[in-house]
Amino acid sequence: MADKIKMKTPLVEMDGDEMTRVIWKMIKDILLEPYVELNTEYYDLGLENRNATDDKVTFDSAEATKKYGVAVKCATITPNAARMSEYNLKEMWKSPNGTIRAILDGTVFRTPILVKGITPFIPTWTKPITIARHAYGDVYKNVEMQAPAGSKAELVLTDKDGNETRELIHDFAGSGIIQGLHNHDDSISSFARACFNFALDMKQDVWFASKDTISKKYDHRFKDIFAEIFENEYKEKFEKAGIEYFYTLIDDAVARVIRSNGGYIWACKNYDGDVMSDMVATAYGSLAMMTSVLVSPDGVYEYEAAHGTVQRHYYRYLKGEKTSTNSVATLFAWSGALRKRGELDGTDDLVSFADKLEKATIGTIEEGVMTGDLAALSTIENKKTVDTEAFLVEVNKRLAELM
Ligand code: NAP
Ligand code: MG
Repeated sequence: MADKIKMKTPLVEMDGDEMTRVIWKMIKDILLEPYVELNTEYYDLGLENRNATDDKVTFDSAEATKKYGVAVKCATITPNAARMSEYNLKEMWKSPNGTIRAILDGTVFRTPILVKGITPFIPTWTKPITIARHAYGDVYKNVEMQAPAGSKAELVLTDKDGNETRELIHDFAGSGIIQGLHNHDDSISSFARACFNFALDMKQDVWFASKDTISKKYDHRFKDIFAEIFENEYKEKFEKAGIEYFYTLIDDAVARVIRSNGGYIWACKNYDGDVMSDMVATAYGSLAMMTSVLVSPDGVYEYEAAHGTVQRHYYRYLKGEKTSTNSVATLFAWSGALRKRGELDGTDDLVSFADKLEKATIGTIEEGVMTGDLAALSTIENKKTVDTEAFLVEVNKRLAELM
């Protein structure tokens, strides 16, 4: 066999929990290490180690990602009450994804992996739709009150000199409810830049929508910031790349998305992104076929699968049973990270390895070999359902031929 592919700069590797941790090791053993001299800086984000390090490992891994520019992350447990006792935790540690996102100030882009034989619920969606969700503010940082009958609600803004501006929200004859929302120009700007940068990376159009006709100041601010940043910083780059930025109203966007063929990035406000990402993911068929990348405004990338740790499969695995867990999204997290590492380092053989790994994976499924979740969806004839490890071995057969 030829020499293994070398990596110039380390890739930040964030290991995780449960079934995805098992898959993580299998992917490295079966598909990566035979071909690539893996140069990773390893951080164990498994819940036991997060607990042992008082979650310092999560912060360290995010700092390392800033330093090196590219990370790949395994799914991790976000602790709840049940996990507190299961893992005997000192504290209910926060979601690692939340911690990492806060440190990198990033935007998450989710893209489905399409394969022949699995038709989206919207059959015209022949290309992936990538959803970018603004991850700060609006209803997720709201302040709410109940308004008793006879009360008056006002919006009061106090400037730095103590001057107040007041606006009546409502005079409540009967009882009711009120809610205060906010966002920052900085956060909206970071979001806009992340979307435009990612679009240039992917050579795809960006769609953005809000409800600026109704929300003439709040949503309009989003529209204006996007437009300003696009005009001043991206217009020429987009023209050169042959891609477009397109703004419309959110209800019009929804109608256009349904009628579209996909193949663009849909930038969504926080709430729209929450709702629409679940709709789009479901319509494409499987969460196990959805990748996710966190991109910071200064161009740092963290790749992962969109699904969780597949807990129920893990408990079966622990009992010694064979599982048929889909590793594709985790595999694509690796190939995405290796490709980006290769692009940044100018190591073409690493980029080409990532391409071949994805080709072999898709080829395996399109030739009818797949895990149980996909077998339930695929319309391919003579399909064969294989277990977790057997799938990776099948991918390797095809990968070896491509290498
Ligand atoms: P999940 O791990 O995504 O799994 C939910 C169900 O979806 C599974 O039980 C399985 O269904 C199916 N599924 C998901 N991924 C699959 C795959 N790769 N192959 C085959 N089937 C797959 O979500 P969860 O059960 O709600 O959460 C489990 C843990 O993951 C939680 O501790 C949560 O905190 C964590 N989580 C982490 C992340 C992250 O790190 N990004 C994201 C979400 C959740 P069947 O059991 O019916 O086969
Ligand atoms: Mg949601």
